[in-house]
Amino acid sequence: MFKDSIHLRKRFYEQFYKQYMLIKLDMKQMKNVRFHCIAVVSIIISILMIIPFALSYLTTVISIQSYGNILTIKTQITQKSEIRGVFIHEGIYGVPHNWTLIAETLSRYGINAVFVNDLNGNGWRPNSEIRAAINAFHAYGIEYHSVISTILEWRNSGTEAIEPDGSIHWEYAHCPIKAHDLVLQTIKNYLGNFSDVDGIMLDYIRYNTQDTCYCPYCRAAFDEWYYQNYGEHVSDWTLFYPGQPNWTIYAEWRTLPVTQLVKDIHDLVKSINPNLVISEAAWTLFSDSAIYWRKWLGQDTAKWIAEGYIDYVAPMMYTKTVYGRSGETLESYINSNIKYWMGGQSEGPIPLVALLRIDYGTTSLPPEEFKLQIDYVRQRGLDGWILWRYSGPGGYLSGSPDITNYLAVLDMPTTFAITHVNVDTAANSATITWLTTLPTISKLEYSTDPLFNASWRVQSGFHFWNITYTPGVMIIDYANVTEHSITITSLSPGTRYYFRIQSIGTAGTVTTKVMTFTTS
Ligand SMILES: [Zn+2]
Repeated sequence: MFKDSIHLRKRFYEQFYKQYMLIKLDMKQMKNVRFHCIAVVSIIISILMIIPFALSYLTTVISIQSYGNILTIKTQITQKSEIRGVFIHEGIYGVPHNWTLIAETLSRYGINAVFVNDLNGNGWRPNSEIRAAINAFHAYGIEYHSVISTILEWRNSGTEAIEPDGSIHWEYAHCPIKAHDLVLQTIKNYLGNFSDVDGIMLDYIRYNTQDTCYCPYCRAAFDEWYYQNYGEHVSDWTLFYPGQPNWTIYAEWRTLPVTQLVKDIHDLVKSINPNLVISEAAWTLFSDSAIYWRKWLGQDTAKWIAEGYIDYVAPMMYTKTVYGRSGETLESYINSNIKYWMGGQSEGPIPLVALLRIDYGTTSLPPEEFKLQIDYVRQRGLDGWILWRYSGPGGYLSGSPDITNYLAVLDMPTTFAITHVNVDTAANSATITWLTTLPTISKLEYSTDPLFNASWRVQSGFHFWNITYTPGVMIIDYANVTEHSITITSLSPGTRYYFRIQSIGTAGTVTTKVMTFTTS
């Protein structure tokens, strides 16, 4: 399809490979006295900084080896055995609300994360409101993730997506090229004010329909790409409009500016704080189709997972039906997401979290029936769930069911987290240690292969990235402990290895992302 597809693939794998360079060990630098001083000062500052935090909030660990090596595991995010989230819609700002009461209520029912719609097409919530909300949830130990309606920023900003006839598609739907700088600046300003949030959730990171964007910037960018890949410029634009013979070529191209935006958001957010979690509220795959939303909305989630741009994905698995292998059922959603985004594994390259809908107004499901959805999500080994959306003590949305009726019927065993992952390498062996906040068994998987790769495939005439899994060697220790240590022997000297660790307890499973070490 592409003249330079081999080059593209090579470049992709190079970038993919770089994402797994999470551990950097440079002994040469350690011989540099100046660097050594900086390292010592960094350690002292780090120790001072971590004292006020509870164990579960320790996310970056610097280990001092007896022989002077310093290993820094970058962007190691503390992972809980179950993300129990609640989405708080912007509508909460339009009704009488009390953040402390909302936080106290959710804490009482075992919720450990909220996703608050602070940034969307209607503007940015008042700073005093956001500050009060963050403080309230943090006071109850609940993570605060700020939801940004990414390509819906803002109304009347002049960045709206354009239809083929030149008209504005919808005042809320924007062009990823024209809105690019505005979105980045908005996130930068937001994090400048609220650097203590725990994450950014990207919502609406896609086109609204197949009809956009045909603004002059998109047309120019497409024409350049078309010339590079097909050796000719666009002579008749009508052939590239929806329903026309070459529209799928345009649909393929238009994933690129969205991906560029996701990459730039990732780079910006991680440069501000590498421990901030970037999640995506995604349109869910279903009915064994890998291409559907990539084709129709330009949502290229598999690519973003493969590139490491997002830390976990929360597909909107909205349905009232649990079973059924096709259509809008929980089973169909989970099957497809695991197959194409997780390499066929429930423990995939990043956590898979079900965004579930309880609010259907007066036709909402009875809580007991909804409990079956949570049971099914847990049975399938997903990493958590987020309920859409909060209405209850401290903030009642008109016509929405009280969320406490739903939370009250759920079983909530105590969650645990993995922290303090450390690697100690020698020429022929490596010892990996970690802590868990509850006793669990220990698993370690390693390989000279990155474990997860992405392959460029085609389905019904449209391309997609398919995440694949190549199993490594598994070492299992069945002792139930909180201090874990596994030593790998018979390794080759001077070789890069990929590994991930897993802890399994009564409250679930935590699997880390793939990390690397290199033997000496
Ligand atoms: Zn455009």
